[in-house]
Amino acid sequence: MSEDKYVEYPSTSYKEMGRIFGKEQIKLSKITGWVFKIPSKDSILIAYKIEAILKEIFPEILEEIKGIAEETGYEYPVVLANIVLCGSKEYLELKEMCISMAVRSELGYILALNYEQWEELKVFRYFFRRNPISRLPSVSGTDCYIGATDGMNGAGLALTSLKVSDRICGIGISPQLLCRIALDSCESVDEFIDLARKVSHLLQWNFLASDGDRAVKVEVHGGRKLKVIEINDDIFVAGNHFEGQINSPSYKRVKEVYDFLKKRRPRNPEDLIDILGTHEPEICFHGSDNHPPVISSSIYWPAKRRAWIAFGKPCGASFREIYMG
Ligand SMILES: [Zn+2]
Repeated sequence: MSEDKYVEYPSTSYKEMGRIFGKEQIKLSKITGWVFKIPSKDSILIAYKIEAILKEIFPEILEEIKGIAEETGYEYPVVLANIVLCGSKEYLELKEMCISMAVRSELGYILALNYEQWEELKVFRYFFRRNPISRLPSVSGTDCYIGATDGMNGAGLALTSLKVSDRICGIGISPQLLCRIALDSCESVDEFIDLARKVSHLLQWNFLASDGDRAVKVEVHGGRKLKVIEINDDIFVAGNHFEGQINSPSYKRVKEVYDFLKKRRPRNPEDLIDILGTHEPEICFHGSDNHPPVISSSIYWPAKRRAWIAFGKPCGASFREIYMG
């Protein structure tokens, strides 16, 4: 039986959204066995420190967490720790690896992402969130409901994210929560950078962000350390390492993909759909013992408010087009 992994949610309150997620979590946990972990005392202490940051910048997220707790019957601190520490090695490691690219079209930059993740984590979905009127609607990929791995919102801000390390290196917000909060509240690359500068960060991660004419790579080095790299070239490729880390295993892959794109010169989403399914170099990856396969792909064209998403390996997938206007 094939299930639709693209889900549209109504415009509702954050608390009610949490309740909807709670219901889905109960259903899904029976299929996948993926249940909330009972956190240690230390994890709960860290989670409450992160909660204080969220209260400052985006308290609505906490309403969503409360909604999940109410619906699933887990205590609030348990759900809080599971959400805010998700993605960290010490807590729940997400082994994702990915490759993402920014290419210049006739109308601003287009972002594309192949998302690599172990398939046993069957919770991955694309959501269309209408959100309450005061917040922006978005389409986003997620493997933990509340957070987002990538997406584009109604204001035309597109984001992709890539893991560099899952070791906790600061008490701060996770990349998935940063991505989600930015999609709900930021209208431009500038606003995304401001948000990323305002908070401390839990993990080391890379983002590509574009709002049309402008594209940047934002390297989150953990804690308060952030590096913003302006993209001026027609082609930019990012992987699971920071700029200059030439000994990283992803460095070679990124370089090969960059050289390939330079030759192919993609200019539009059709070119990118083709390119995401390429095996030489390894853009579409089918998995090895220590490197997960591509489980989904996304393309975002902020200037046109259009997105293309596909589940499964992109070499054989059909892409669904979504208009965010
Ligand atoms: Zn393939």
